Formats: sequence, structure tokens, C-alpha cells
Amino acid sequence: MSDESRPRRRPIRVGALAAALTATLALLCCTGGAGAFFLTDLGGDGAEQLTPASMECTGDFQVDVTGKMPRFPQYGERQLRNAAVIIKVGQEMKVPPRGWVIAVATAMQESRLLNLANRTVGESQDIPHEGVGADHDSVGLFQQRPSWGTVAERMNPAYASRKFYEKLVDVPDWEKLPLTVAAQRVQISAFPDAYAKHEELASRIVDALAGGAARTVLIAGQEVCDAAASGEIAASGWTAPIPGGVGSGFRTASRPGHDGVDIAAPKGTLIRVAATGRVVFSDCDPDRSGRHSCNVDGWPGKGGCGWFVDVLHAQGIVTRYCHMVSRPRVAKGDIVQAGEVIGEVGSSGNSSGPHLHFEVHTDGDTNSRSAIDPVPFMRAKGAPLRSIG
Ligand SMILES: [Zn+2]
Repeated sequence: MSDESRPRRRPIRVGALAAALTATLALLCCTGGAGAFFLTDLGGDGAEQLTPASMECTGDFQVDVTGKMPRFPQYGERQLRNAAVIIKVGQEMKVPPRGWVIAVATAMQESRLLNLANRTVGESQDIPHEGVGADHDSVGLFQQRPSWGTVAERMNPAYASRKFYEKLVDVPDWEKLPLTVAAQRVQISAFPDAYAKHEELASRIVDALAGGAARTVLIAGQEVCDAAASGEIAASGWTAPIPGGVGSGFRTASRPGHDGVDIAAPKGTLIRVAATGRVVFSDCDPDRSGRHSCNVDGWPGKGGCGWFVDVLHAQGIVTRYCHMVSRPRVAKGDIVQAGEVIGEVGSSGNSSGPHLHFEVHTDGDTNSRSAIDPVPFMRAKGAPLRSIG
């Protein structure tokens, strides 16, 4: 399948976006800094930080709170052990893995996964702690205030986790909500948009500690590995945009400039956004001659991405969806939730037949330099783009 992956202009201005993001739904956070963080943090697929087994979805999600902890550059052993306790409590309460990701991300934001005393709460400093905070009268991993329990209770990681999950599962449709919204309904934080930026790392921590559990999706009450497609959302918060296999791959020998992958599908197949985010472009990409002619099928050599959508996600990740059959269903500025339909498969622009050209970028921009191979990226999210052959 032939196409041209790259609308030739339109750099995303991260600074302006950051302002717009804050102003819109307080959904995503800190694209500039988070983008840089993501690049350093991910560095490929992050596998070098983890034991090989942790990158697999094993089906056995039991977490060991006393054994050797996986290594992450951002967090030390005691922080990982606290994450393990959070996950274990979730397992014992039969909360699905999406809840573990939300809980770990929340504790990352609230306490950097440390069991904090509070300098204004004298009693808290007599209880074993791993740091001292100063936010109101909040203590512990989740920075819970007195209505959540006694000081000693709130500084018990298992107790604090249990209280978090009890409130979380009471939030209607919590599993379908963007992480930031779900976490905010529990925490009532002054800084709700701060949670989303931890979703990526929280997912990888859950994967490392609990057998790839962030890569599961709940289907008929069962946690199924690597099966998030057709609107099912993995615990990581991601889903495959369309079901189907990758035909033409990322930067192959014959197409070194192909910055995405092509997934063949019948015209009209619904395209779903791969994760929650904000639409930053939704437009007809002009062809090589500068014509905006996206309402007709294109051809190889025509140039342009056809009707396309770019979505900015937490941590500066951008996904791109090209060659739609007609004007996308979403407009620039829209907040879209993972799995929401954004358009339909077509063959507009530089295309030889109906397919979705899908790209993933990592630094809040969509230039060629920031493109990464979507296949390993989406597999690590539990939402694989299945390869053909
Ligand atoms: Zn393509």
C-alpha cells in the first residue's frame, strides 16, 4: 500500500498547546516537560530497565511485595515496594488492573510513591515514614486527609490503598474514564491534570510487578493479554485504532521514509482514537499540487495524507490517522476518549487502496524525527497492531 505519511507543514507548537490544554478540560498535563521526560524515560521501549519477563503479558499477575524489585531509573526500591503493595491490595479486592494503574499513578503524583509524614501533623513523625510532606494535614502514599482514617491508618500503605480503591470502584464507569478524571473523583485534588502524566510509567510499573497486567483488557470478566481492539481499552489506557494486521511497516528497506504503518481495512471501517487526548489537527492534507481534494480516492504519487487527524496524548505522545474516506468526525480542539470513533477508513491522499496509515510520535511534535515504530509501542500497551506474515 502506497502512501505518503507526512503532511508537510504544521509543526505542533507545544507552548501554545500547553496553555490551551490547561484551559480546555484540564485533562492532560505539561506537554513540554513531560515530553522531554518521556524521551529520556522511554529511550526506545524501556526494556533495558526491566527484566525481560516483565515486558511480557504472562497471565499470572500475582505481585510479590517482599521479593526483588524491578529497577526503574525514576524510583528506588522502597517506592517500587510501595507500588507492589498498592497492586497487591487491588488484586485482593478484585479490582481489575486498570484500577492498579490508576492507583499507582495517583500515588506517584501525591507522594512519589513514598509513605510521607507531615510536618504539621506531629503524630505522623513518630510513625515509620519515608519522607515528610507539608500539604495541609495529608499523610501517606495517597496524601489522604483526616476524613480517610487515623494518622496511623493513613500511613499504613495497605490501608491507604484499600481506601483509595473503595472510593474508586464507587465512581460510575471508572474503568472507562480517562485516568485523570477517575483519579480526581477519588482524590478531589487541586491539581487534577497532574495525574495523567504518570499513566505511562505507572503502566510499565504495573507490567513489571504484575506480569504485564497493564496490557490486559477485561473481556467477559476475564483479563485477556494483548487484545485491546474494537473499542476495548487495555489497563494501560490504550486500544488498537482498527482491528487488522500491519501490511506495510515502519521505515522498511523499500520505504525508509515511511514513518508509520499501514493497516488494510474495508472502506468505512471505524477508526478509534488509540488513547485519550486532544485533537490537534483534523483536516484535509493538500496533495503534491497543493489541492485540497480529499473527498475522492487518491493514488500513489498524488501526495498528502488525505483526511487526517492528529491527537496529542499525555506525555507528549501524538498519534496520527491518515487517508480517511471523509471529513473526520472530530475537530481541532476536541477532547477524545480512548476508543472514541474519530473517522472512517478510506483511500484519500497518497494511497493505492483503503487502509489506515497510523503513526506514533513521542515529543509533542509530528516531524519525522519524533516518529517511532507503532508496532512495538502498541504491543507494549496491550493494544497490538497485529502483523501479517
Ligand atoms: Zn502508510
